[in-house]
Amino acid sequence: MHAVIGDDIRTPTLWCEFGRCISRYTHADATGERDLRGRALEAGWRYDALGQLACPACAAGDPGFVASQPPGGGAGAPPAR
Ligand SMILES: [Zn+2]
Repeated sequence: MHAVIGDDIRTPTLWCEFGRCISRYTHADATGERDLRGRALEAGWRYDALGQLACPACAAGDPGFVASQPPGGGAGAPPAR
């Protein structure tokens, strides 16, 4: 029997949610989506005050990014949606 979604292990991926940005983040060693979020935050990705995930470029320069705290301030993930 084959899995409906295929036999490959699903690789979790995060997408930037700003404007027309197509940046995405993935990590080969991530064990799941929560782990991947932690790795993304360490790599400079940020959640804004509205819970939207932004790549480092959008977090620094997108006018739609609503800063919730200064960069490097120990940003954590918002509550699970
Ligand atoms: Zn972006």
